[in-house]
Amino acid sequence: MRGPERLQALVHTVPDFPAPGVLFRDLSPLLADSASFAHAIELLADQAITAGPLPDLIAGMEARGFIFGAALAAHLGTGFVPLRKAGKLPPPVIATDYTLEYGTARLEMSALAVQPGQRVLLVDDLLATGGTALAGAQLLRHAGATVTEALFVIALDDLGGHAALLDQGITTTALLA
Ligand code: IMP
Repeated sequence: MRGPERLQALVHTVPDFPAPGVLFRDLSPLLADSASFAHAIELLADQAITAGPLPDLIAGMEARGFIFGAALAAHLGTGFVPLRKAGKLPPPVIATDYTLEYGTARLEMSALAVQPGQRVLLVDDLLATGGTALAGAQLLRHAGATVTEALFVIALDDLGGHAALLDQGITTTALLA
């Protein structure tokens, strides 16, 4: 088994986690398999290269976006920006509030990380409704960055994430559905 099929086989699907009715995709087996983790980063790099000129920075969403985003940044030779849950980063930070299914959440990044005009590629492990990635894009744009592409290992196609991001001018690509 090669390519995305091998990666797909290493995604563990867990019913009723973290809440009843949710089908959680756990990428732990993929991350633990050296060849598959490296292959996932190569495939993400291919997508990043195909999308156009290399970005100045890759931004990863907490927490699994850090794993794939930072590895991809090192592979491509770009910088990396962690987009974090509230209260984790020291000042100066830039923050944005966004709506979750129940309530709101705050996303923060260092105000020292991004310069206005830099092109930033968003990376996360999984795209569902797109709310998390949109919040990341909003935060980066607030800092003056240009965000037009987002990469995911998995996209759950029936939850509207691709369309929600495209509506905000962001093209999405995923390795697996
Ligand atoms: P969205 O905001 O609805 O697109 O949800 C995507 C965010 O939730 C990402 O940051 C994911 O890491 C996380 N997430 C949602 N569902 C899953 C899952 O099944 N496996 C892993 N992460 C998930």
